[in-house]
Amino acid sequence: AVVLAFPLAACGSSEKTADKKPAAGTGNAGALIGVTMPTRSSERWNGDGENVKKELEALGYKVDLQFAEDDIPTQVNQLDNQITKGAKLLIIASIDGTAISTQLQSAADNKIPVIAYDRLVRDSPNVDYYATFDNFRVGVQQATSLLTGLKVLNADGSEGAAKGPFNVELFAGSADDNNATFFYNGAMSVLKPYLDDGTLKVPSKQTEFKTIAILRWKPAVAQDRMENLLTSTYRSGLTVDGVLSPYDGLSIGIISALKSNGYGTAGQPYPVVTGQDAEAASVKSIIAGEQYSTIFKDYRELARTSAQMADAVLKGQKPTTNNNKDYDNGVKVVPSTLLDTAIVNKTNYQKVLIDSGFYKKAQVQ
Ligand code: BGC
Repeated sequence: AVVLAFPLAACGSSEKTADKKPAAGTGNAGALIGVTMPTRSSERWNGDGENVKKELEALGYKVDLQFAEDDIPTQVNQLDNQITKGAKLLIIASIDGTAISTQLQSAADNKIPVIAYDRLVRDSPNVDYYATFDNFRVGVQQATSLLTGLKVLNADGSEGAAKGPFNVELFAGSADDNNATFFYNGAMSVLKPYLDDGTLKVPSKQTEFKTIAILRWKPAVAQDRMENLLTSTYRSGLTVDGVLSPYDGLSIGIISALKSNGYGTAGQPYPVVTGQDAEAASVKSIIAGEQYSTIFKDYRELARTSAQMADAVLKGQKPTTNNNKDYDNGVKVVPSTLLDTAIVNKTNYQKVLIDSGFYKKAQVQ
């Protein structure tokens, strides 16, 4: 579902940044910046797009903001158009980070700098900076919350009372999204010892990234896969105790499949289901005791970071990055800024999401 109510950057930001208009003489004051986001079908990307636009406009730039509905040719056209329209810089959250190399070459030929937004653009030398979250850590947090939900770990990370064995199933994101591998690797780094010692079992035996990856992060595909698992592997009465889900949209699909197979009752409670993005529908689900956890990525901060990077580049300065965590995109090491993320569950959503001003209480009730 398209959800248009999303948290916008704090209103104060335009005041804070009003003195940072592009310096006269750089030739870039008020320049056009092209911003491309993958899709409007997920709440977070709507918020990302609007927040980036707002931050850039507060710095005096003009913005062409596009969403591509997860269709690669659409995104390719949008980038071509932005280059033709004279954009002086591109901020790109790609659908497939390897499918836009022609556009990136054309940007380089026209001396248009490129900032990869949230998702790394792979296998191209023509990407200048990368603003994202600590994607490996997101996976670590997802797996940690799965173990906490199962009580294998306590909230403080110490060993919990439950020893299993627990039946879990694993889902991964879209294989063409560089982040999906980072989430998976981060999660597996935590789960592996528990899979090895038998605390966790994967009855379907499907643990390889390519087997469990959900193309384009489509909720309906995850729902189908969960349905199939329930009617094959779990048919003989086995119970699912946990599901590693890398994104809230997939979690919603997975929970629907569980519900239509008898889960979510007093006798058959939902398994521990993880997520990512703290989308409003999933926060509601967490409050209702369906989804167990999500990972909060404050994309207001990501928008601000990428806008500051763009501004520095257009003023001929070097943006600040956390250079000890730069990403290698296959052909070059891209100077990167990685923001922190937080595990959210029923016990702390109020503090992390509401008290921080990310959501108003009414948005998640
Ligand atoms: C983002 C996640 C998001 C996923 C699906 C990833 O690239 O980093 O935050 O859940 O895409 O949209």
